[in-house]
Amino acid sequence: MKKILKRILIGTILTTVISFGSIATLILYPQLLFAEKVVYKDFNIYSNNPLPDTYKSAIDYAIEVIKTSEIYESGHQLDIFLCHGTFYNDFDTKLLGFAMAKSLHNNILLKVPVDFDKNILIGWNSERNLKKTIAHEAIHFYQMNKYGMTRFSPITHPPSWKGEGYPEYVAYQKDIKSNDYDLIESITKIKEFEKKGEYWFPTEPGQLDPLVYYKGRVMIEYLIDIKGMTYTEILHDSVTEEKVIEEMTVWYERQKSKE
Ligand SMILES: [Zn+2]
Repeated sequence: MKKILKRILIGTILTTVISFGSIATLILYPQLLFAEKVVYKDFNIYSNNPLPDTYKSAIDYAIEVIKTSEIYESGHQLDIFLCHGTFYNDFDTKLLGFAMAKSLHNNILLKVPVDFDKNILIGWNSERNLKKTIAHEAIHFYQMNKYGMTRFSPITHPPSWKGEGYPEYVAYQKDIKSNDYDLIESITKIKEFEKKGEYWFPTEPGQLDPLVYYKGRVMIEYLIDIKGMTYTEILHDSVTEEKVIEEMTVWYERQKSKE
């Protein structure tokens, strides 16, 4: 009897391990499910239809901005999957939840229709800037690569303003560093939206993001560009949202009084 129970137990454990292993393999290595593969610089792009030539400018942009990041490391090849309309997309959504785009280790999943010519991801009620989304998701890989899965994973991660604000900061580098950009104006916009109690923020025309993404990006901007901190320093637990907002508000009021 004991022998039979032992066999059943071992059988159950083996089946569970094999099932989890198969699911993890499918989620992390879906390459064979896609008909087309294009290799371009630091990225492999998998899709079921041929890509228009404009994909190159999206990738060029992403590489240009991610290379400005202190956590970028050369020698990594990231995989982008154009998943919309595939079994894999449905499977991932059922298992891990929906997002227009997400990063899973070195995979970037673009889960809604993609228009390279217009540089957009097309969601149900909002669009996203495609090249900036690729840069954002790529930075999630470099966060995990630099700081480890114990600090950057779907289960353990820093607060949103640090974890999501930094990829946004990198993705928007060209806007932030342009001559007509003004951090004071960005903080003013946040204050207006917070007063109205709005959750969604129009980061770009046609694009709505949770305000916490934009606010996180602006807080990171303040810490890096005004205070001269590194991202590694910002990740330290002693750098809290409350303290940064308090300090940034003092700086903001001082700048406004000079205008
Ligand atoms: Zn993100």
